[in-house]
Amino acid sequence: MPNRSTRIWILCVALGLTASVLLVRASSGQAPSGERAEAQKAPFVVFLGTGTPGPTPNRQGPSLAVIAGGKAYLVDVGVGIVRQANAAYAKGTQELNPRGLGIAFVSHLHSDHTIGLPDLILTPWVMGRTAPLELYGPPGIAAMAENILKAYTEDIRIRITGLEQGNTTGYKVNAHEIKPGVVYQDANVKVTAFAVPHGSWPLALGYRFDAGGKSIVFSGDTAPAESIVQACNGCDLLIHEVYFGVPTSTVHLPEHWIKYMATFHTSAEQLADIATRAHAKTLVTTHLAIMAGATEADLLAALKKGYGGKVAVAHDLDVVTP
Ligand SMILES: [Zn+2]
Ligand SMILES: [Zn+2]
Repeated sequence: MPNRSTRIWILCVALGLTASVLLVRASSGQAPSGERAEAQKAPFVVFLGTGTPGPTPNRQGPSLAVIAGGKAYLVDVGVGIVRQANAAYAKGTQELNPRGLGIAFVSHLHSDHTIGLPDLILTPWVMGRTAPLELYGPPGIAAMAENILKAYTEDIRIRITGLEQGNTTGYKVNAHEIKPGVVYQDANVKVTAFAVPHGSWPLALGYRFDAGGKSIVFSGDTAPAESIVQACNGCDLLIHEVYFGVPTSTVHLPEHWIKYMATFHTSAEQLADIATRAHAKTLVTTHLAIMAGATEADLLAALKKGYGGKVAVAHDLDVVTP
């Protein structure tokens, strides 16, 4: 018969083991042990696509998911979004079950950030989603959603009235045209939009997510922006677009392209300065435009030259916990 202290020790070990099991369950994305455990899970980011408009086979179009409180909040809707979500789901992120994808925030209306919208509207519905998609973005996002639904009128009709017996609600979209400020809040996250300078776009947005005591700031597409320095202001994770690579004697870039990149986007050197002044604890780059024969290693070296924090280059399906 164990004495009292031995019994307490045994109890502690038992409790410790239980906690470990819960932690493993949470990180492998298996069934959570109730709502409280979900709410306490640390937020994390899954990169669904880290590319640009270029049809790179190893990088899908720009989109990511902030996972908080057991729910996925999508940011941007690039090509491949639902298949990439399903790939992450297959690897254990339960929140990215395609039929559960229900809310997305769009940075701006460039095609690389929205070309997956028909996919996000229709595929989760075909897989059984019954709730309309909640879609946030700058002015123009409502017309885009409406026109996509018009384009797919026949598909929707056949799926609802034919043998598939599709439900009559899950293909719908609640579009919210937003301005800078707090644009969304629930028990898991607060989402704040801020304006960024992206060439001739009248309004392009970045987003800050506050969740579980952590702050995650996403730049969207942007030239160097003071609004990002302010929105981050010591944030735990800054996710920022970047371009890198200068023409050499053997690699030429068209003059207008160099001008476009400098007006619409942020170079590695500029980003290092932004991240430093924003006091970002961790910097992860996405929307990678690596040009003129440069490599990811070159990009990292350029970033580290001007920024002393933790830095990484995102790849598709990377998971980052701030
Ligand atoms: Zn883009
Ligand atoms: Zn853009």
